[in-house]
Amino acid sequence: MEAVDRCDDRTVIEGIEFEDDDGVVVVQVRPRRPKKGRCGRCERVSPGYDNGDGRRRWRGLDLGTVKVLLEADAPRVDCREHGVTVVAVPWARHGAGFTRDFENQAAWLATQASQSVIRALMWIAWVTVGRIIARVVAERGAGVDPLEGLRRIGIDEISHLKGHNYLTVVVDHDSGRLVWVKAGRSKKTMAAFFDDLGEARCAAIRLVSAGACQGVCVSNSTWHCSDDYPIFLPR
Ligand SMILES: [Zn+2]
Repeated sequence: MEAVDRCDDRTVIEGIEFEDDDGVVVVQVRPRRPKKGRCGRCERVSPGYDNGDGRRRWRGLDLGTVKVLLEADAPRVDCREHGVTVVAVPWARHGAGFTRDFENQAAWLATQASQSVIRALMWIAWVTVGRIIARVVAERGAGVDPLEGLRRIGIDEISHLKGHNYLTVVVDHDSGRLVWVKAGRSKKTMAAFFDDLGEARCAAIRLVSAGACQGVCVSNSTWHCSDDYPIFLPR
């Protein structure tokens, strides 16, 4: 079964049920090493605190048109840095109501498809997509530098919260990954990206494709722009 395959070796499947009333598949899971509770925020091994709110569910990737929910205990630990916190689970990011795979797919789709396509495919609100993207990017920012080794990038904006708020997103065309995101779509927002990138890595970029608005912001002395296409090449 697909949902089972997707769980990595840190997750044990305890049972699978089909709930007729809601038409959903519920997969009961637990971390492979449940005794070693880790803080959900920093993943440090921490002493157990209590059972939290009991069983919890996370939405996973659908099986065809059937919704899949992962269900597990969500006890709390007492982290010496973060205090009482829900335990870390291998299948989901801290504070998320979706699995890691679900969020990765939604974040990738946000860079490839329209809002209506994402809503229809994933059955989630656009505001939720914004939160998911923030979590995905925050995680990628921890430990590894997602801006390392970039050659061909795409810069675009997506709106959320009924179109009145914008996120500027940068994707790596070579890996297809979302590598940077920030609220806003102004020159200042783009400047923040190029600051994060730094001069040396900026010089290594071979191609930037950009939406109309961002185009203005990246066409500085380092780049020249084709008038017909939103693509920038190094001088
Ligand atoms: Zn912690």
